[in-house]
Amino acid sequence: MKVNTSEIVALLNAEKPKMKLWLKVCAHCSLCAESCFLYTVKDRDPRYMPSYKVIHSIGTLYRKKRRISHQDLETIGDIVWNRCVLCTRCYCPFGIDIPAMITLGRKICRTQNIYRRYDEK
Ligand code: SF4
Ligand code: SF4
Repeated sequence: MKVNTSEIVALLNAEKPKMKLWLKVCAHCSLCAESCFLYTVKDRDPRYMPSYKVIHSIGTLYRKKRRISHQDLETIGDIVWNRCVLCTRCYCPFGIDIPAMITLGRKICRTQNIYRRYDEK
């Protein structure tokens, strides 16, 4: 499936200063993980840590930009749609807004026809 990279880059650029700052500031301290109920109910699977989720979604998008593939977007879509419910409970002492980052990931996925799949367990 063809990826509209221009559309993705435009969305990334519109939020660039804030998102890049948050990606840079993240100290990988994992403090946010304990406030994410999905992380705790999933037996502390590291893939459910808030910091992991943003690094492997928004972080990947900024890193790859025009090189992003449909497969990359499917992987990102799985994270932003299935591993976060945007409950806004995650706490970061540095003020990183995880839900805002996941929201941007969803917005970008939506433009490429990647939505939540309700047929998955
Ligand atoms: S998002 Fe904040 S709390 Fe979570 S790992 Fe990064 S710096 Fe630590
Ligand atoms: S917004 Fe997402 S990452 Fe933050 S606590 Fe809720 S489910 Fe976890």
